[in-house]
Amino acid sequence: MKYSTTLPVKALPSAEKYDGKGPEYKRRFHVMAKPTGSTCNLDCTYCFYLSKEDLLHQDRHTGMSDEVLENFIRQYIDGQDGEQVVFSWQGGEPTLMGLEFFEKVVKFQKQYQKPGQRVENDLQTNGVLINDKWAEFLKEHRFLVGLSIDGPRELHDRYRVTRSGKPTFDLVMKGVEALKKYKVPFNALVTVNRTNARFPLEVYRFVTRELGATYVQFNPCVEAVDFKVTAPQFWRDDTIPITGTRRAKPGDLDSIVTDWSVDPDDWGTFLKTVFEEWVNNDLGRVQVNLFETAVAQTMGMPAQICTASEFCGKGLAIEKNGDIYSCDHYVYPEYQIGNIEDTKLAHMAFSERQKAFGMGKKDTLPEYCKQCPYLKLCWGECPKNRLVRTPDGEPGLNYLCPGIKAFFNYAEPILVGLATLLKRDFAGLRK
Ligand code: SF4
Ligand code: SF4
Repeated sequence: MKYSTTLPVKALPSAEKYDGKGPEYKRRFHVMAKPTGSTCNLDCTYCFYLSKEDLLHQDRHTGMSDEVLENFIRQYIDGQDGEQVVFSWQGGEPTLMGLEFFEKVVKFQKQYQKPGQRVENDLQTNGVLINDKWAEFLKEHRFLVGLSIDGPRELHDRYRVTRSGKPTFDLVMKGVEALKKYKVPFNALVTVNRTNARFPLEVYRFVTRELGATYVQFNPCVEAVDFKVTAPQFWRDDTIPITGTRRAKPGDLDSIVTDWSVDPDDWGTFLKTVFEEWVNNDLGRVQVNLFETAVAQTMGMPAQICTASEFCGKGLAIEKNGDIYSCDHYVYPEYQIGNIEDTKLAHMAFSERQKAFGMGKKDTLPEYCKQCPYLKLCWGECPKNRLVRTPDGEPGLNYLCPGIKAFFNYAEPILVGLATLLKRDFAGLRK
């Protein structure tokens, strides 16, 4: 994986449009757009993106230009053959670009949309700037909103603060009110950190009952202590601890992760507790990203999220100046694969280098994972979290492994039961 960054950006044949006869081949990839770069109106303690301002020498006062925006939209639409193209706007905080920017987004999308193609947008936001005007726009143009919220007030305000260190819960809830008033569909995106991980039911019940989210994404907060400057897989081998040791947990003076990273054991307990609540009360009513994908995988279907997939590489990131990176979590100079001004977006997305990045997820699994009974549900989770050694000293094990194992050890029989029921229902429907 370390060496994937040295491969040339040579397009694979699949980057070229297929217009002959024969089996239909659909080119699909996903790009997460960061129109403000790392600029944000908040200063969340655990944010992995604010530091990109220094790392990438960004100017905080300029966002994505109209030229880059139009070029991106044109190439992104042109590079895909599927009937659906999904734009994801993220940051930093994308609403800082103002509504005028998103009006241009919609205008360019209409201009370049191909016949029969569906263009969709999702917007990942901290919710602070969302007011009636925004909500009206989002509803009119059918944006799906992902709202970052970490649980009830005390848990949310632990790390999600303004630039002057003030709490943000009330500001976010005002945004939620506007979304609800205009009936804008929204998902809750919860960063499970060292603090809220210890309150699984409080977090889950708040987002599903009080907030009313019916789709919830739980993202484990894991950051290497030197994440601001050191790209994943470029860590020093001699500093990598063995899983389960004190340096492989947060809170130790010499820990390899930041203080706010979730403890691997707490991650396991969090997942088990929420899973039990979900199975007992919310099956079919609430979708939880990690559980939905685990059920699908148990039924023999592909994973629905990248962290649980066998390979990476299908989700790139575009920075405000048009630079393209292998993944949103790999926005480091070592993983920049080009700029849309010089190289076609589809060439980069289907390049040998991006393919090597994607294959690296499986190819670099330690033996410990290859022998793991939960391999096909986990696939070593996200490579950026492979910060520790296996019990016998092989590097490349996921920091969260003890928690992931504990979860699957508990949930697997239930997953098998759910999968069997669902398969039976599907078979009944087909009759
Ligand atoms: S590196 Fe992590 S976040 Fe990026 S595509 Fe792979 S699993 Fe997903
Ligand atoms: S649970 Fe642990 S050992 Fe098993 S595949 Fe995942 S990271 Fe590897």
